[in-house]
Amino acid sequence: MGKIVRLNEQLSNLIAAGEVVERPASVVKELVENAIDANSTRIEVEVEEGGLSKIRILDNGTGIASDDCEVAFERHATSKIKNERDLFRIKSLGFRGEALPSIASVSDFHLKTSTGDGPGTYVHLQAGSIKEKTAANSRKGTEITVNNLFFNTPARLKYMKTVHTELGNITDVINRLAMAHPTIAFKLTHNEKQVLATSGNGDLRQVIAAIYGMQVAKNLLPIKAESIDFSISGWIAKPEVTRASRNYMSTIVNGRYIRNYQIMRAVQEGFHTLLPIGRYPIALLHIEMDPLLIDVNVHPSKLEVRLSKEKELTALIQEAIKAELKKTTLIPSAALPR
Ligand code: ADP
Ligand code: MG
Repeated sequence: MGKIVRLNEQLSNLIAAGEVVERPASVVKELVENAIDANSTRIEVEVEEGGLSKIRILDNGTGIASDDCEVAFERHATSKIKNERDLFRIKSLGFRGEALPSIASVSDFHLKTSTGDGPGTYVHLQAGSIKEKTAANSRKGTEITVNNLFFNTPARLKYMKTVHTELGNITDVINRLAMAHPTIAFKLTHNEKQVLATSGNGDLRQVIAAIYGMQVAKNLLPIKAESIDFSISGWIAKPEVTRASRNYMSTIVNGRYIRNYQIMRAVQEGFHTLLPIGRYPIALLHIEMDPLLIDVNVHPSKLEVRLSKEKELTALIQEAIKAELKKTTLIPSAALPR
């Protein structure tokens, strides 16, 4: 008799959750990304106690059809890709079909959704199993409430930091999504106090003002560059407005916030000697490229990606920043990057 057994769905979801749902901020990221993929123009996020007692996400997107409301909680079930060809041309933020089953397996999960035609659907799950599914009146869009996150994984719960730290992580997530999607109106509240709100009018400078404040927003220079493969646009703060950390350089590729040290280096090198020692620039760059040039299937969080023409891209960014800084007459020419 062999000793190997196939784990049941609930147990494999719980294992996947260990990777996908690290902390409340990962729940917020996954659920808001789903709302973005559903073409929402307005997304509201309410959290309580750093997200551990409650996370509520309200969107005005396409909604989920009643027939899809059970399969949506099965692993590797997605409406976003169908075949291998799609996997190499990802246009959506999600595609793994892991978030809903993973989050539901470690929480008390309520979904209320409507596609706008006919009545909507309400589904309640506890630790991943469906307790109730009924028709429910609701307007077009989706409302998800995650209560008591990690109630059935005490080790993970113990590993959580203070409310303050968890809220900080959630705020970072929403800030990044708002920077990536200036045409979506975001609102984040914590214990009923507003943390962030953007208008969704498409003006990236207003998003920067909401996140980094007026001091930064009033001191921006535009960045624009084109090549056969890339189209870059965005803003940098003037060299007199810097920060003590690299975290204020943000890169968005095809609507996805990514972390790439080569790109950050290119931004810094664009500033060259204009940066005081130990100081880093503030920059927000939107880069559009053929999805074939970027591999997002590297890590579950999709924060790290592989870029196949990274050298060309970093050279283009560095040159664009240099050129813009050279134009700025306020800077004494001796300090200009060569
Ligand atoms: P993925 O995003 O990788 O497809 P998820 O587990 O996050 O996987 O979601 C499963 C499916 O549920 C999605 O493919 C989508 O069809 C549907 N879905 C989830 N959230 C929403 C939402 N807010 N609005 C509309 N559809 C949604
Ligand atoms: Mg998803």
